[in-house]
Amino acid sequence: MDVTDVMDVVVGGGVVGLAVAWRLAREGRPVTVVDPAPASGASHAAAGMLAPVSEVTYTEAPLLRLGAASLRRWPSFAAELAADAGLGDPARALDLRADGTLDVAFGADDLAALDELAAFMEKLELPVERLTGRECRRLEPMLAPSVRGGLLAPGDAWVDPRRVTAALLAALHRLGVPLVRARVAGLLRDGDRVTGVRLADGPGGTGLQESGPREIGPREIRAANVVLAAGAWSGELLDLPVRPVKGQIMRLRSPQPLLGRCVRGMVHGAPVYLVPRGDGELVLGATQEELGFDTRVTAGGLYELLRDARELVPGVTELEVADMVAGLRPGTPDNLPLIGPAGVPGLVLATGHHRGGVLLTPLTTDLVLDALTAAGGGARETETGETGELAELCSPRRFQETS
Ligand code: FAD
Repeated sequence: MDVTDVMDVVVGGGVVGLAVAWRLAREGRPVTVVDPAPASGASHAAAGMLAPVSEVTYTEAPLLRLGAASLRRWPSFAAELAADAGLGDPARALDLRADGTLDVAFGADDLAALDELAAFMEKLELPVERLTGRECRRLEPMLAPSVRGGLLAPGDAWVDPRRVTAALLAALHRLGVPLVRARVAGLLRDGDRVTGVRLADGPGGTGLQESGPREIGPREIRAANVVLAAGAWSGELLDLPVRPVKGQIMRLRSPQPLLGRCVRGMVHGAPVYLVPRGDGELVLGATQEELGFDTRVTAGGLYELLRDARELVPGVTELEVADMVAGLRPGTPDNLPLIGPAGVPGLVLATGHHRGGVLLTPLTTDLVLDALTAAGGGARETETGETGELAELCSPRRFQETS
């Protein structure tokens, strides 16, 4: 590989890194992705809910703003991606659906909590509808008879993240973007400036996409800009407040779809959700565990997911288990992502997306493109308007200033 013509290097090929690279390539910027195992991290585990409204919590209003702005971008993002990947109808190709999320409650306490949440959402002028238990079951006949009420967020959507990353890899291939299957061991620096990446020794080496492993090539890739999108592992390459938050999740197979929309609820004090796919698959998620880089699938995780999901939809226990995986969400102290200039010339961050990386991907590509354009002396979209405010919310500076 001729390294001199590489302009931007994206470290990490999860949904965030692949989408950023695709967006840069579409803008005509030469870009290379480096990842030893693309699309195998949190993005492989994710349920794919695009649910800023039903995920809202009392303390996360900024996250709601980011999520809502990104959800608005999803239809055009999906259409452009499907076209570049050579797929047909984007909704079918990516299993993108916008049929809403139904949050349900069982006991009197749950119902009171849901009422409070509804009042909070209405204050924020979010489009939600309160439903009785009967209305919930009319929408979703497979719900447990004990469901006493619900809250419908009709604008929430979902997508199959595995289809999204597969489409991104196909689009990158068609655009001729090199994918180097290697681990980045460190950043190259020239004085203050980041000038590229150093690759780890060992198997994987460097090799261009789809051509299989090659003989060891150059151990360094020089770049005008490095975009760090290594998910939960980002803190291994730079001193960043990003930590792994483990999530176990199960996929069940059903001859016909059990649900028409995403269903969520609190069971035994823990949130559980069920996400239906177009092909009849039903996703049950997810645990939240602070266990470092542990990705073991445990009997306890499996038990809790099934026990809680069965409370909401008793029929789940009849279904065939398709797979169970654990992924590592890239968590940050304030649950907001780190997107934008890292404070070091030549380095831009696109990490820390925690529970919402799939939802936040389209917005992230805009913010990274703006940051790189600004770094090259170009006009920066984010200096003004809504996007500017969103960029501020994600700015890595918020931690540098307080440390
Ligand atoms: P990842 O997908 O983890 O990708 C990081 C990549 O970096 C990996 O491919 C890895 O191989 C690579 N890498 C690591 N170190 C290096 C290195 N040194 N050199 C090169 N490459 C490296 N989000 C939603 O929006 N909706 C959901 O419903 C949802 N559900 C979830 C359910 C579960 C169980 C989990 C775990 C997460 C869920 N998320 C959800 C969160 C979402 O999955 C993440 O926020 C998102 O996938 C982060 O994407 P990423 O590309 O930053 O990270």
